[in-house]
Amino acid sequence: MAAAWQDVVRDAAAVREAAAVAGDAALLAGVLMRTGEQPNASDVVNYAPFTLLPSAVPRALFEQAYAVQQDFNLLVDAISQNKEFLRQTLASTIKVDDFTARLFRIYMQVLEEGLAQTVFLGINRSDYMFDCGLGGTAALRQIEINTIAASFGGLTSRTADVHRLVLKVLGKTEEASHLLPNNPAKGLALGIAKAWELYGSQRAVVMFLVEEVQRNIFDQRCVENELWNRNIRVLRKRFRDVFEQGSLDASRRLYMDGQEVAVVYYREGYVPQNYDQQNWEARLLLERSRAVKCPDIATQLAGTKKVQQELSRPGTLEQLLPGHPEAIARIRATFAGLYSLDEGEEGDRIAATAIADPERFVLKPQREGGGNNLYGEELRQVLEKIKDSPERTSYILMDKIKPQPSLNYLLRAHSPLQVSECISELGIFGVYVRQGQELVLNQAAGHLLRTKAIEHADGGVAAGVAVLDTPYLV
Ligand code: ADP
Ligand code: MG
Repeated sequence: MAAAWQDVVRDAAAVREAAAVAGDAALLAGVLMRTGEQPNASDVVNYAPFTLLPSAVPRALFEQAYAVQQDFNLLVDAISQNKEFLRQTLASTIKVDDFTARLFRIYMQVLEEGLAQTVFLGINRSDYMFDCGLGGTAALRQIEINTIAASFGGLTSRTADVHRLVLKVLGKTEEASHLLPNNPAKGLALGIAKAWELYGSQRAVVMFLVEEVQRNIFDQRCVENELWNRNIRVLRKRFRDVFEQGSLDASRRLYMDGQEVAVVYYREGYVPQNYDQQNWEARLLLERSRAVKCPDIATQLAGTKKVQQELSRPGTLEQLLPGHPEAIARIRATFAGLYSLDEGEEGDRIAATAIADPERFVLKPQREGGGNNLYGEELRQVLEKIKDSPERTSYILMDKIKPQPSLNYLLRAHSPLQVSECISELGIFGVYVRQGQELVLNQAAGHLLRTKAIEHADGGVAAGVAVLDTPYLV
């Protein structure tokens, strides 16, 4: 599935010229990141890493990924409302994984008090790779679904313009005209705006809950500015600001320094390092409030690797989405093999299989953000060490997906121009809004293609491994 420009990949002069154009075009288009040296200042910025060339993506698999997104939205929303499923599924995990346990405790606490929140907003991104398998035809395989802080919807809204220009410079005008428009920033903002409107207070603001280190601020600004364009006020606050300035009134309306908050959009809070004691208290305050959390704590839990693994068990989807056999079939068609490492015979058996043949699997802890999974020899060693201890249950096993590599250039500021063998991961953004029991919005909101050199088993764009790309459908 090589794209139509694999002929120019080895033409050094053409590539050099195109790369110079590409860097400037990215800066002009706003495909930007702050620098590692000054991650909280916008005085000096650079382009976010991206591929020189769009990567080939099989059209049928791209369409399949879009076609299943509303089903995944429905599924995540259903899980988030199913206390018994979350309790049973995460029971073994929370015994050994402190972070998931803490999130779960907050979940229980807000349920006990009774939810003040009546409007629910989900923004997720379902990620896939194209498994080339044995038969030679590629298959769409879900890697994971991100239900909190799914990023790069902003920057990727501007990436196709850059690639369109690069293709023209390379004499591929016809191909340039086939690159698809893509605007997740608008789609995400639409969801946030809908939730804000349903919350029903003209004066209330949207609060982006942001990181201490805000290197990827421009990605967020793309969404933020779409809200300002709709005359919706946006605040950017950290957990510690919430701890210092946040309060609830008698009906649990959330106030930040006297301003009412309608929607809290988390771009932080998905890894243990985001929390100290004060930040946990701030999180609890937000979850207890009437404000629309994106996501609420139940939806964050619905995105854990353990939940993903349980979904692949026969009968689970039927239990979660009764009366939706077609959605279930579309969802299930994207699943890779997933295996529980819970204590017992089933877990013993798969652990032994993975130790004997580690290249077939990926070992995943309950963590987000890239760089946490184990592969190959390391997987074997870790599993060997924990195979007889309860610690085993904090992980899941997954079949390793093996995509067909293709050649590309990964453009990074201050890095030499060199050709790499690459593989890509396609993400589809999903947005939905529920008011009480009624789903009032359910959409696919655009896509993200990330590409990395094959020598890296793991890691996303923020982790410094993958770069932004644009799909070229073949
Ligand atoms: P995270 O929450 O850290 O992003 P992921 O499940 O997305 O966790 O895994 C991180 C990266 O590891 C992915 O972007 C992908 O490159 C690689 N990866 C994950 N699962 C698999 C798999 N089953 N086969 C091949 N690569 C995988
Ligand atoms: Mg991921």
